[in-house]
Parts: sequence; C-alpha cells; structure tokens
Amino acid sequence: MPHRAPATAAHGTLSYLLFLSSASMATIIDGKAIAQTIRNEIAIEVRSLFQNYNMVPGLAVVIVGMRKDSQSYVSMKRKACAEVGIRSIDLDLPEDISEADLIEKVHQLNADPDVHGILVQLPLPKHINEEKVLSEINIEKDVDGFHPLNIGKLAMKGREPLFLPCTPKGCLELLSRSGVSIKGQKAVVVGRSNIVGLPVSLLLLKADATVTIVHSHTQDPENIIREADIVIAAAGQAMMIKGDWIKPGAAVIDVGTNAVDDPSKKSGYRLVGDVDFQEASKVAGWITPVPGGVGPMTVAMLLKNTLDGAKRRIVQ
Ligand code: NAP
Repeated sequence: MPHRAPATAAHGTLSYLLFLSSASMATIIDGKAIAQTIRNEIAIEVRSLFQNYNMVPGLAVVIVGMRKDSQSYVSMKRKACAEVGIRSIDLDLPEDISEADLIEKVHQLNADPDVHGILVQLPLPKHINEEKVLSEINIEKDVDGFHPLNIGKLAMKGREPLFLPCTPKGCLELLSRSGVSIKGQKAVVVGRSNIVGLPVSLLLLKADATVTIVHSHTQDPENIIREADIVIAAAGQAMMIKGDWIKPGAAVIDVGTNAVDDPSKKSGYRLVGDVDFQEASKVAGWITPVPGGVGPMTVAMLLKNTLDGAKRRIVQ
C-alpha cells in the first residue's frame, strides 16, 4: 500500500511523537462527495434502464411505528430514491401491527414484480421478532443484505451473495475509490455486529486482507490496532481509538456515530466517531470524518443494491 509514512510502523509513544513532529495531515476521505458521485452514476443507469427496458427500479421502504430516528432515516432513504429515479413504495405501518400481519405484508412485497428491493427499518417494536421478519424477505430482494443466506454466502469461499450489506459495502467502496489497496494488507475491524463488524471483516477477507477482529473482550486492543494498515472502527464508543493507536500511514474508516454533549450546539450534542479524529488525522494516511464519511455511503449502497436487484431481473 502506498503509505505516506515509513513502512515500518512507529510503535509506542516516543516514536509516535517523533512521527507527529514530521507528519503531514491524512487525506480526508470525503464520503459525501464520493456518495454523490455514486448517486450520479446510479441516476444515469436508472435512466438507461427505463429507456432500454421500460423498467423503473422499485424499493419498498417499510416502517413500523413512529420512532423519530427511524422516521428521519426512512424519509432520507425515500428522498434519495426519488433523486436518482428509483420508485419508493412506502409502507407506514402502525406500532401495534401484529408479527403475522407484518410478515403478510413482506410476502405481498416478495410477490410484487415492481418491487426489486425490500427494506424493513429497524428496530421493530418489541413484540415483533426482527430475525423472523427479516428472514421472510425474499433473498432476491434483500437489499440490506442481512438475510442469513446472503451473509452465509459472503462467508464462504467461491460463493457470491446476491447483496452485500450497505454499510460494509460502503466502507470498501471508500477504500477502493480512494486508491487504498487491500490485498495482502493487515486489516483490523473493531466490532463484530451482524450489520457492520462481521460482514465488513468477511468482505476484507474476500478482498485478500489479513483480518483481525477486535471486540469488547479483546485484550490489549491498542497494540492490535497499531499493527493495522487498514482500521475499520465500528464499536459505537465515542473517540475510543486514539492517535497513538494508529500505524503511521494507515487507512482509517470510522463507522462509529456517537452523540456527545456539546452545549455550543443548538441541539446540545454533536456526532463523533469511534476514532479521535483530531489526533488520528495527524498520523493516518487516509481517514473518514464523522459525520460526512461512511454515513452517506450507506444510503448510496442501498440505492446501488436496488438498481442491481432490478438489473438482475432483466438477465433472468
Ligand atoms: P453494535 O451492534 O452495538 O456492536 C458494537 C460492536 O463493538 C460489538 O461487536 C462490541 O463487542 C464491540 N465493542 C463495543 N465496545 C467495545 C470496546 N470498548 N472495544 C472493542 N470492541 C467494542 O453496533 P453496530 O450496530 O455494529 O454499530 C457500530 C457503530 O457504527 C455505532 O456507532 C453505530 O451508530 C454506527 N453505525 C453507523 C452506520 C452508518 O451508516 N454510518 C451504520 C451502522 C452503524 P461485543 O460483540 O463483544 O459486544
């Protein structure tokens, strides 16, 4: 990988300080701009799909209840669909819908030929088993990539999942569009959740990185992270990863999105990542900011998955 710092990692505080004194700032990976480029590319493909096949990709966006954060994610996703010409099929369901009725709605969407992707916004109300509902989504419409069959295929050599989960896919897209090579590099993923940490580790492995996963029981995470050419932080722990945990020249993708108190803001809070950006940007070769890094990519990848789902229908 074309590190900007010496290839030998500077370990320990003294060498870290020596490095800092000669360090230049990392390249900031502008997720917002990269996501916009991808959205423009998607819009062009959507238009040509219509011109050539009279087909409009359709994404069913299902929300249950009135949670404010979920409402705002859903309206952002629906708006993003409209901007690139994807039709969003909106299902706003009451908080007290039964699990059986919700599953029936999913079955109807599975059977609808105009729906190429189904997204059920999480979390669902407590009386509904999320796992059960998600596994009812037809694997060919599983644009979130959370179906166990898609994750299973991701984990297996020689198998290709139909869809990759959006946030992990976005992380790899940020690396490749920033010119960071993955093959043969040491990658450390912090976090092992089903939606981010685990699938991003599997994706890095598929891309021929040597992958280590750090989780809440890992001993001495600092020294493991210091070995990494690529760090993907997805722990949900505000600014847990310090500048002197980063190998000089490493690529740092910060998935963490944590609200911390900030009286200077009207809202009373601001969003920070899992990485101490101020410190780490003086050491890393590349780094994503929070906000404006991974977040916009997640939505762009959802649109891309929906488009791919529609295109797959033509080939069939
Ligand atoms: P999650 O389900 O809570 O999982 C967190 C993972 O981090 C777990 O595997 C946990 O380990 C590990 N962890 C927690 N504390 C740790 C510590 N001190 N050291 C090492 N590992 C630790 O979270 P998630 O859903 O994966 O999300 C992670 C973060 O990404 C959150 O901040 C979330 O808001 C953000 N996120 C952002 C986007 C986006 O689009 N930007 C999308 C999804 C998530 P154990 O398994 O041992 O408990």
